[in-house]
Amino acid sequence: MEMLMCRACGEFTRGKKQDGEFVPGVEACPDCGGVEFKHNDTGTIVRTDD
Ligand SMILES: [Zn+2]
Repeated sequence: MEMLMCRACGEFTRGKKQDGEFVPGVEACPDCGGVEFKHNDTGTIVRTDD
């Protein structure tokens, strides 16, 4: 399991790594509706609206 942080509000959400890419377990941040998340260990930015 990977933890991804919402870039807008800092809320953490669960995700996974799939085919070498991080995938948040939610379509949008449940707290603020943000769609951009950061994997802090690697600095990777992922978006759910692509
Ligand atoms: Zn958020």
